[in-house]
Amino acid sequence: MDERSVDAPTDPEDAFLTLSNDLRLEILLALWEAPGFSLSFAELRKAVDERDSGTFTYHLSELVGHFVGETESGYELQYPGHRVLDAIQSGVFHQQGTVGPVELDGDCLECEASLTFEYDTDYIGRVGCEACDERVLEWPFDPGSVADRTPREVAAAFDRRTRLVWGCALDGVCPFCAGRVEREIAEETTESGLCIGVLEDLDRYDEFFARDHPAVVSLDCRRCSFYSFVPVGVVLLHRPHVTGRLWERGLDVRETPLWELGFLIDADAVSVREAHPLTVAVTAHPPDGDPLTALVDTDLAVTVET
Ligand SMILES: [Zn+2]
Ligand SMILES: [Zn+2]
Repeated sequence: MDERSVDAPTDPEDAFLTLSNDLRLEILLALWEAPGFSLSFAELRKAVDERDSGTFTYHLSELVGHFVGETESGYELQYPGHRVLDAIQSGVFHQQGTVGPVELDGDCLECEASLTFEYDTDYIGRVGCEACDERVLEWPFDPGSVADRTPREVAAAFDRRTRLVWGCALDGVCPFCAGRVEREIAEETTESGLCIGVLEDLDRYDEFFARDHPAVVSLDCRRCSFYSFVPVGVVLLHRPHVTGRLWERGLDVRETPLWELGFLIDADAVSVREAHPLTVAVTAHPPDGDPLTALVDTDLAVTVET
């Protein structure tokens, strides 16, 4: 066994209790700000300005073995310590950010007015149309995104981050806890709801920005609380035999923001081709060529039809 893992907390309550002290968090922050994330005992004590040697030694010892490692010259931040600080830096525990509304380059598919991006204190990034109230794309985003960015740069970061989360989850790996994500294509069967899930899920579906699509992919992490829906068109973003053909027809799906990809945001681009087994058709309209229709099956396998 790795010696450094011997003292690791074995349950989450213990881990969080270990961190529930100002001085311990200051120790982690001091190491985080140090060159090489490492300081000697004296340097670390000076950095946190703790005069009582006994108090400092006690709280440091509580962190050593898991969040902080001992080296020949002192102490260094371990991977769990980095992750604690990364979570703090995301801002979700202690900050709220607001941005916009700021005008984007893309236009509304419904009324052709300019789309806008807005980030509010409910931690949701929103792209929509103020002229006709169309909701184009909505997804959680962390307040850490707002620092050091102009509003349009925040919107661009929202695009990149949302792609990353979607791509990872669609590949079956939770972007938040690395656990297993179950993926399922859900078809709308009635006016009132989907053919999957329980009432609680359907309630959440009512809030989904793409709730007017005839089918969506549901994502459910077996380990953490991550649960969501994404448009079926998102699957196409990660299939080179689709993106290559779109690129040849003048559509670069990497450079084009999510909210300008019609096959992803437009309910009319999605249709249920077959009910059993469920096959969903997604049609893209690239600028320099014929439309491309891709078929997505229940295993999220994609075949190009045209
Ligand atoms: Zn509009
Ligand atoms: Zn998870």
